[in-house]
Amino acid sequence: MWIGIDDTDSPGGMCTTYIGAVLVRELPRSGIPVSAVRLVRLNPNVIHKTRGNAAVCLEAEGDPETAFAVACRCVEALADFAAPDTNPGVVVCETRPPQDFYERALRDFCGIDEARALLDAVGARYRGYKNRRGLIGATAAVASVLPDCTYELLTYRKRENWGTPRRVDRESVFGAEEATYPHTWDSVDRENDVLVCVPRTPDPVLFGIRGESPEWVRKARSRIRSEEPACEQVFVTNQGTDAHLIPGTIGGLAEGRSYIIPGTVAGEPETGPGGHVSVLLEDRGGTIRAMAYEPTKGFRDVVRALIPGDTVVAVGSCRKGSINLEKLCVRTLAEAFRIRPPVCVACRRRMTSAGRGKGYKCRVCGARATEPEVERIERRIAPGWYEVPPSARRHLARPLVRGAPAWPGCPGGDGGGD
Ligand code: ATP
Repeated sequence: MWIGIDDTDSPGGMCTTYIGAVLVRELPRSGIPVSAVRLVRLNPNVIHKTRGNAAVCLEAEGDPETAFAVACRCVEALADFAAPDTNPGVVVCETRPPQDFYERALRDFCGIDEARALLDAVGARYRGYKNRRGLIGATAAVASVLPDCTYELLTYRKRENWGTPRRVDRESVFGAEEATYPHTWDSVDRENDVLVCVPRTPDPVLFGIRGESPEWVRKARSRIRSEEPACEQVFVTNQGTDAHLIPGTIGGLAEGRSYIIPGTVAGEPETGPGGHVSVLLEDRGGTIRAMAYEPTKGFRDVVRALIPGDTVVAVGSCRKGSINLEKLCVRTLAEAFRIRPPVCVACRRRMTSAGRGKGYKCRVCGARATEPEVERIERRIAPGWYEVPPSARRHLARPLVRGAPAWPGCPGGDGGGD
């Protein structure tokens, strides 16, 4: 059977993955061994998410009625029911709802009633608390099939430490990543000197290590020195797989979905208030602004280096009519020229404009010229894929170290996959 849970936390505390880890320990006490533990991230653009729009699915053997009772008991004991936007959902089913529901929850928006209809159709046991919204994520979790997956080892804090500063030895985390990269990734952001895998929120997570196999995440974990955790759990996940992306065209984008779209740079990049960088992209169907926000740090220099005529493939979410970039492929570079008045052949001084449409004039000897000096400028960027740093990475975004997206005319594109 499959057991799904979602929407148990709030900005004030708790974490659905923690309740999943507790369930993994509780179910065997009732004679229900757990064989697989999955953490799925759903559409990162849903407004009701607390943080990363996570939901959890356990695969287990035994009596579904007992499993349902245990799961509901755990959620009732641990979920942050007092928070206004916490609406837990618990699902236990012996037949899974169609995979299509997971794919829509990942890339699009779903309703509570459609989740309930699918659960009824497969004869699932389920309970939605408060406004029942958590049933969407819980249903998507049990319906999920992961054609590509990665692993995350999460360690959880002892209850008496919740809400206090986390004690994790910074150097040991940098050392763990150095010893295991590229088999683990995003524990740290070396370029920006940031510890990425230790949250700052008041939830029970101590740190999380992402990687390509349970062995590699455990190997990295074994090098980290920290306060003593209460427990730890390895999850199979859709994180770092780009599963949220839809191939699109600029004219056909819908708000709240994430896309991979080809385009041509249609204007000079601009740096706006707060250091956010934007550039206009176009295709035959229209134009869209691509944004590299301030937290994407050095990635903004890639966007700043674009010029009109460059062809690119942009990857990111469509929000408020813009594409929020997660990564970018520069396919071809336009030629860049510097055009300025020529140098006078007689006196070697640079001429000045003689007026609009009147060519150039040497202010020293009065010589005239009609043509400007055209100099080809070396571009500051090379064709290839570029990505935001680990500190700004979305859970679902596949780091380039796992392979670049397969797209015609782009380098790499091995499709990743384990
Ligand atoms: P948690 O750690 O508790 O999972 P979170 O950041 O993952 O926190 P939730 O608290 O689970 O966020 O809130 C997300 C809510 O949005 C859930 O109720 C979930 O059922 C719902 N939801 C998830 N994906 C979709 C979707 N594609 N369409 C509509 N609702 C969704």
